[in-house]
Amino acid sequence: MLGLMQDWPLLCHRIIEHAAQVHGNQEVVTRSVEGPIVRTTYAQIHRRALKVSQMLDRAGIKLGDRVATIAWNTARHLECWYGIMGIGAICHTVNPRLFPDQIVWIVNHAQDRVMITDLTFIPILEKIADKMPSVERYIVLTDAEHMPQTTLKNAVAYEEWLKEADGDFAWKSFDENTAAAMCYTSGTTGDPKGVLYSHRSNVLHALMANNGDSLGTRASDTMLPVVPLFHANSWGIAFSAPSMGTKLVMPGAKLDGASVYELLSTEKVTHTAGVPTVWLMLLQYMAKEKLTLPDLRMVVCGGSAMPRSMIKAFVDMGCEARHAWGMTEMSPIGTLAALKPPFDKLEGDERLDRLSTQGYPPFGVQMKITDDAGTDVPWDGKTFGRLKVSGPAVAKAYYRVDTEILDDQGFFDTGDVATVDADAYMRITDRSKDVIKSGGEWISSIDLENLAVGHPKVAEAAVIGVYHPKWDERPLLICQLKPDVTCTRDEILQYMDGKIAKWWMPDDIVFVEAIPHTATGKILKTALRDQFKTYSLPNAAA
Ligand code: ADP
Repeated sequence: MLGLMQDWPLLCHRIIEHAAQVHGNQEVVTRSVEGPIVRTTYAQIHRRALKVSQMLDRAGIKLGDRVATIAWNTARHLECWYGIMGIGAICHTVNPRLFPDQIVWIVNHAQDRVMITDLTFIPILEKIADKMPSVERYIVLTDAEHMPQTTLKNAVAYEEWLKEADGDFAWKSFDENTAAAMCYTSGTTGDPKGVLYSHRSNVLHALMANNGDSLGTRASDTMLPVVPLFHANSWGIAFSAPSMGTKLVMPGAKLDGASVYELLSTEKVTHTAGVPTVWLMLLQYMAKEKLTLPDLRMVVCGGSAMPRSMIKAFVDMGCEARHAWGMTEMSPIGTLAALKPPFDKLEGDERLDRLSTQGYPPFGVQMKITDDAGTDVPWDGKTFGRLKVSGPAVAKAYYRVDTEILDDQGFFDTGDVATVDADAYMRITDRSKDVIKSGGEWISSIDLENLAVGHPKVAEAAVIGVYHPKWDERPLLICQLKPDVTCTRDEILQYMDGKIAKWWMPDDIVFVEAIPHTATGKILKTALRDQFKTYSLPNAAA
């Protein structure tokens, strides 16, 4: 027997309809790419999103067609998300930090028909446009006044394009399993892989993100997503914030410490989210200028491990540091380190210990850890295993790839190695390909990196395994120092000594000007492994 409740498909555009109806005057503030701060509301975003839909529909964009965006976090970009999804087209967010060849590969793989872009990216796109024949037209997110001359095919300024629409258009209803958006993983190994979100998965993910132990913003809060709309489904914030009526502050193209600080401060932001590199820049800027952020209550940090020293810096500011783990394939929320009883009563180092874990999953994510044979290993906080996940917002396949990616029980292998303790708190040990295998035992590169950045002179640290004749691999610590400081190898080794097992100690330390990053802000280990592939450790003859 079926239930007698309404058939109300979970469609993304229902979120912005709700925001417009119930929180219509709530502000969305943008640092525009042109420069000035621009203010709009959810009601206006909804109206303009309908115009985007109307214009795309008029251009013959149909259910299932791909429309790409390569753009910063702005209100215009958000309007486009909803405008594209509202007609059942697929919003394909392209990461502008990828190499031009990767952008070409992704756009051709997705067969995008329209490309919506910011002024910033016109020069990159002009160089590669002839290699992307599926793109019929380019829409530049600006007005006539700022629109430059460009060779891009059928280029039009967004504001001019929108003027042609009267907004007399209604979104259609369709099956909630219809594809809504796509995002390619950065492909640090092999080709990029397309993750295809559905309307249903995005709506369920928004509800999951809204719980108090997750992102948990309310109508009375202000959220500044530093995490770009083009990175891993914007961590769901493009859906969760409007669904709650939370004020949004969009940082545009400027993500340096001073610019992010300015918006956090002037807009009295209560919640913000981004990768550790961004917070490193912010904290360095605030320390140098002796600044505070009295309104900021929560910093969500994920994408890479949040170092303990960073968590402490935010906690000392009186702000909650919420460490999150996830991935593009998970929409992307996997786990969050909220403090459940009795851990909420912890203080000092013990509290930091809990906050430094990657946390536990919200309802909607199931996880397990297994050995290489696929057998579950215990949740004892000690046994490492391959981390596997399932849930309604977790990928079951990649776009146009036939390979099976789920195990017999329907779990997806995240490629991460982790421990889980008896209270369900998960701790990432490493990416399975980054873990250092020393004499058959595993050393966590992440643990060593987190410890090294705790040294007051170290800005960023990376650890890779380097060939060793006796142990196979031993850890090499690569450090980028803070500006204008000098430091010796021994100073850092002394600092680490006693804080980890002796056999985990790095065999050597090298100092570099800058640590390379991927397009999503992670340490580019492949480049470091390449750079140091012939590195000879001082004790390698032993
Ligand atoms: P991309 O490879 O495109 O950057 P993702 O953002 O999806 O893609 O990367 C997901 C991976 O990032 C995870 O599988 C994990 O290895 C790493 N990661 C994410 N959050 C954390 C975290 N809090 N701690 C450690 N690693 C993390």
